[in-house]
Amino acid sequence: MHLVMIGGSDAGISAALRARELDPAADVTVVLEDAYPNFSICGIPYYLSGEVTHWRNLAHRTIADLEAAGMRLRPDTTARRIDVAGRKLLVTSAGSGEELLSYDKLVVGTGAVPVRPPIGGLDGPGALGSADGVHLLHSMGDTFAVMRTLQDAAPASAVIVGGGYIGLEMADALTIRGLNVTQMEQLPEVLPTVDPQLGAHVRGELTANGVEVLTGTAARQISRATPGKAGRLEVQAAAADGTVITRAADMVLIVVGVRPETTLAAEAGATLGVRGAIAVDEGMRSGLPDVFAAGDCVITHHRLLGRTYLPLGTTAHKQGRVAGENALGGNRQFAGSLGTQVVKVFEQAAARTGLRDHEAQAAGFDPVTVESAADDHKAYYPGSHRISMRVTGDRATGRLLGMQLFGHRHAEVAKRIDIAATAIFHGMTVDAVSDLDLSYTPPLGSPWDAIQVAAQAWVRFP
Ligand SMILES: Cc1cc2nc3c(=O)[nH]c(=O)nc-3n(C[C@H](O)[C@H](O)[C@H](O)COP(=O)(O)OP(=O)(O)OC[C@H]3O[C@@H](n4cnc5c(N)ncnc54)[C@H](O)[C@@H]3O)c2cc1C
Repeated sequence: MHLVMIGGSDAGISAALRARELDPAADVTVVLEDAYPNFSICGIPYYLSGEVTHWRNLAHRTIADLEAAGMRLRPDTTARRIDVAGRKLLVTSAGSGEELLSYDKLVVGTGAVPVRPPIGGLDGPGALGSADGVHLLHSMGDTFAVMRTLQDAAPASAVIVGGGYIGLEMADALTIRGLNVTQMEQLPEVLPTVDPQLGAHVRGELTANGVEVLTGTAARQISRATPGKAGRLEVQAAAADGTVITRAADMVLIVVGVRPETTLAAEAGATLGVRGAIAVDEGMRSGLPDVFAAGDCVITHHRLLGRTYLPLGTTAHKQGRVAGENALGGNRQFAGSLGTQVVKVFEQAAARTGLRDHEAQAAGFDPVTVESAADDHKAYYPGSHRISMRVTGDRATGRLLGMQLFGHRHAEVAKRIDIAATAIFHGMTVDAVSDLDLSYTPPLGSPWDAIQVAAQAWVRFP
């Protein structure tokens, strides 16, 4: 049995590891376009900030670890065409030219690519790129290019286009490096994946750390600055009322989201679904014979929404594991995502799981969202922090649908959102969250944990 995985990131490597774990005799080949298998791209901001001192430290596993697990790695090799009927994969590499790899089962883990927004200066003749200090950020290659700009051009200022979680992490990272950062977000608030009430707290943290935050501001044009002016680049943007805003900067980072990379699978005849991602069933089967797909290139089965597109590293790992198991003949199901996520912004963290009010409404629930706040541990013990919480539940059934938290990075926001994720996963009511037997000692918690206080506030809501 020869399994071929395309893609050397979370999905492809998880599939390969699972297959080898289940069947140490399985012949597993991983084809990847670059030379960085199993790198934690989620850690890129912390390498660029300098907190992670060497890019090699971002590897979940080294090449030697992966080879010891029994997979054959084909780095710097691009998959070009899938011959579904013949079960062959055409690949090219600088060393071997074109080659046909036979497979019994194929796992497509081609991931996502960053969105290039329609901003003047990014395309066409004379387009600005990394040599000019204008960057997209997704791969290790992109990371090296940003690091070259940081080291060689010693920028004093940066404009970050995009106020989503990667943009926020990079505002934190570049500020740590000593750059003056301007963050532009076209929506009315940063971190639009949480409610604006919590997004406003995130904006407060950015501002408190010297980041200039321009919300409701859409970047329109990036140009080389006129010699003699401050900064080597100029970013022109439009405010919501049409006012033109101009900022000079030495580098520009564009982080406005990703789209699934599906060319290979689509050309082989795979059906595409939400947001153009590869349609798969819960067993990660693409519908093409013997072809599985997982990670950022596929649609996401969501426990409350059904099919959606929610590219996250945690999900890619789980889906890859399912694909690897099923490629060996197993019958594992991806249990579904809740979109659970957390981001650290300077000293604070914001997290969410499940649905926000408008999402729940669109999904046919009758949601009510109640905001409350509680201390992470007993306030009499030094170092307590307030956590802001928003709980969304279904009025008709009392079911917990979603939770959002904002609080200090040491206030266990991530683990508290994970309790909520567990409760939603198991279909609990908001009220039943109060019944959970959670741990307590004054320096670390309260007899009623913060999220139980939030649940009780929701239940009390008229
Ligand atoms: C800066 C940053 C921070 C992030 N932080 C978080 C976080 O904190 N938490 C979280 O859950 N998620 C985070 N993510 C998202 C997470 O990294 C992705 O969801 C996850 O890596 C997706 O894994 P994947 O294997 O599906 O795809 P990708 O990581 O996109 O990898 C795709 C792989 O396929 C290869 N490939 C593509 N086409 C071909 C081809 N034709 N031939 C051969 N190889 C090919 C690529 O080279 C690559 O190896 C972050 C992402 C970024 C960029």
